[in-house]
Amino acid sequence: MATPLLAYGRKHQSGVNWITTIAMTAFHIGAIAAFFYIDLGAIVTSMLLWWVAGSLGIGMAYHRLLTHRGYKTPKSVEYFLTACGTLALEGGPIFWVATHRIHHQKSDREGDPHSPREGRWWSHMGWIITGKGMHHDATVLGRYVPDLARDPFHVALSKWHWTSNVVVGLLLLAFGGIPYVLWGIFFRVTFGLHCTWLVNSATHLWGSRRFLTRDDSTNNWWVALLTFGEGWHNNHHAHPTSARHGLAWYELDMNWMGISVLKALGLAWDVKLATIAQAVPHDENDQPVLVETEEAVA
Ligand SMILES: [Zn+2]
Ligand SMILES: [Zn+2]
Repeated sequence: MATPLLAYGRKHQSGVNWITTIAMTAFHIGAIAAFFYIDLGAIVTSMLLWWVAGSLGIGMAYHRLLTHRGYKTPKSVEYFLTACGTLALEGGPIFWVATHRIHHQKSDREGDPHSPREGRWWSHMGWIITGKGMHHDATVLGRYVPDLARDPFHVALSKWHWTSNVVVGLLLLAFGGIPYVLWGIFFRVTFGLHCTWLVNSATHLWGSRRFLTRDDSTNNWWVALLTFGEGWHNNHHAHPTSARHGLAWYELDMNWMGISVLKALGLAWDVKLATIAQAVPHDENDQPVLVETEEAVA
């Protein structure tokens, strides 16, 4: 039987997704509860976990490595970084990469999973808590991510992605107690989710546009600060495979700094880089051509 094509976008997502909505509500309540348990050690631990999940995991692994293959790394490093990404509670790698590849294919057009043209609230969080489109199984999503769907590690991690937070949560409870769980899990996950969602909402609404891309993507410094560099989103839409998103010296990009450290250690190679000077090239079908200028920027 042929695998059905997925239909994304607001009109295809009706009804409330109760499992996700209840989980999101619980995490927001836990995040607010953390403020009744102020504890410096717990707050520092949560900031460290935010970086592990958001930068090592989402920025460096899920996005720049798995979705766009902006650099190469040993499988052991890929698996470790991807496991870090599951701590963000943004779903497993197959779901995340499939959704994001569709976003690049259909950016701000029919079929984009989360375009602000269909509503600001929709693009931020609405698309997560409504409909059933977010819960297709790995075999359906696999057609968008055949590379990951073939890999037993990524398939297993996609199924069990939520378990990393259970393990870390139990460790925090054992060694730090309730404040560490509230800050390190509930506040940190909730805050990190909103940071990532701002890339879908704010950087398709507010900021500057260096490249005249077909979508509404923008460069936004405060979203970049909150996402370790993912807020240079117009640069990214113009040059999706570039491992570096902050192209000017003043565009702080911690995820790129992390990839640079891997490269210095010999753990990253074939690093794809775009430069400011590059206009957006298009092929004969008027599709943006992925830039594969290696080492164009020192
Ligand atoms: Zn985008
Ligand atoms: Zn992307």
